[in-house]
Amino acid sequence: MSNPLPRHYGLFIDNEFVEPAGDDLLDVDNPATGEVWARVPDASAEDVDRAVRSARRAFSEGDWPGYRAADRAKLLIRIGEAVAEHAEELADLQVRENGKLHREMYGQAKLMPEYFNYYAGLAQQPLGHTNPLHLSDMINYTVREPLGVVAAITPWNSPLLLLAWKLGPALAAGCTVVAKPSEVTPVSTLRFAEIAAGCGLPPGVLNVVTGLGQPSGAALTGHPDVDKIAFTGSTATGQAIASVAGRTLKRVSLELGGKSPNIVFEDADLDSAVNGLVAGIFGASGQTCMAGSRILVQDGVYDRVVDELARRAEAIVVGDPTDAASQMGTIASRAQLEKVLHYIQVAKDDGARLAAGGEPATVPGLPNGLFVRPTVFADVTNDMKIAREEVFGPIASVLRFDSEDDAVRIANDTEFGLAAGVWTQNVQRAHRVSGRLRAGTVWINNYRKSGYSTPFGGYKQSGIGRENGPDALREYTEEKSVWVDTGQGVKDPFNPRA
Ligand code: NDP
Repeated sequence: MSNPLPRHYGLFIDNEFVEPAGDDLLDVDNPATGEVWARVPDASAEDVDRAVRSARRAFSEGDWPGYRAADRAKLLIRIGEAVAEHAEELADLQVRENGKLHREMYGQAKLMPEYFNYYAGLAQQPLGHTNPLHLSDMINYTVREPLGVVAAITPWNSPLLLLAWKLGPALAAGCTVVAKPSEVTPVSTLRFAEIAAGCGLPPGVLNVVTGLGQPSGAALTGHPDVDKIAFTGSTATGQAIASVAGRTLKRVSLELGGKSPNIVFEDADLDSAVNGLVAGIFGASGQTCMAGSRILVQDGVYDRVVDELARRAEAIVVGDPTDAASQMGTIASRAQLEKVLHYIQVAKDDGARLAAGGEPATVPGLPNGLFVRPTVFADVTNDMKIAREEVFGPIASVLRFDSEDDAVRIANDTEFGLAAGVWTQNVQRAHRVSGRLRAGTVWINNYRKSGYSTPFGGYKQSGIGRENGPDALREYTEEKSVWVDTGQGVKDPFNPRA
């Protein structure tokens, strides 16, 4: 994994790497070693404009508008096959960027083709209707047409999978795309675009601009020729994007933050529940929007669950993300590590009881690695900051509840509504509680599952719109209503008997 010299990348526009207008570069470092291994352009508004113009050109001229649905489907399948062939390389790049476990990034790379295959199938499904009318001698039908140029803005936690969530339906619909990956993880997206171009993607259909949220991301979201913004990231940035989009009424889909409750009832299978709690908050070092960061446990099993969770947290092997023996990798960036450590201090100051972890972890041989110990806070109350704000790290907050009503009240007492878990062996309770939770996903006796065929997105401030599933295609299309006269010609409207 060591690299003698940082490699320089360009922007990816019109299927080739191009030099940016300015000289500003961003370092890409490996959070496990601290080594700077790549440099990418910090794109200016001029660079962004060039990428958007390329996407616009590809949308309205050249080969892409002539692609039939079947052609787009074949292309998506080819891209999926190429990703599978390059899964190891794409996993390595992402691990070098964000420090997540190699096996998780490899697993995601192997899964990505399934997303492209699914949208290849959907590209060929009927999307329109013929509509029954109150009029005679008329036919009305609706067609769904591609929205246009899509800005796909992605975060660092799962750079390529979250791009695939956008790219699958966007390309299936016939849109063109300008992707802006996180400044922390730009290289994997550049390499992905190069691989996709090699599959025969017409120039301009997928462009990549690298750079900071400000100015590159903001230049992209404010660009008048962008029709839609598909964004995954923090609620704060999502709010800023939605307000910019509002000025020109761009379409938006926003997949934002969470503070998801993972609720354990006394009648749960506790072994299974604790496994689900561990997976929910310590998987991916807690750096996932769907992290089960608020663990709600019923009185009668509270102490047992806290003790077992703390024991399991202490036993997690934090280490080199490329080592198969490691169970948790790094935090993705120094800024994010500082945020995690800040919240640990805030939780202590607010009176939460530290039951495990609570400090940086040292890993032999990796003195500059951004590691933190899996952390459990017990006796958290729902008014504490640690229960209200998204940390995006391996910090579990455990809260106590006494009744089902109490659990639902606490679970819903949040500005977020992305996901929730319910652990109980009572089938009536499982469905009853699920129905009362204000969240876009509810997992019953499992946690942290997602898939291409199932919609994912948030209630409340966790987002707008849904990714994945059949309806995601609608998010990348406009609906057109077509009226056809099948009568004997139109009469003079002011003298209909003539
Ligand atoms: P952001 O929401 O700031 O970043 C997500 C993406 O948006 C990145 O590509 C970022 O670029 C870009 N961006 C930032 N500002 C703008 C802007 N004004 N206009 C357009 N694009 C913009 O997340 P961070 O990376 O800063 O992480 C901060 C917190 O966000 C985390 O601690 C976590 O709580 C949450 N988060 C949530 C995620 C989720 O999956 N829901 C994923 C990642 C983070 P750049 O990185 O270059 O600034």
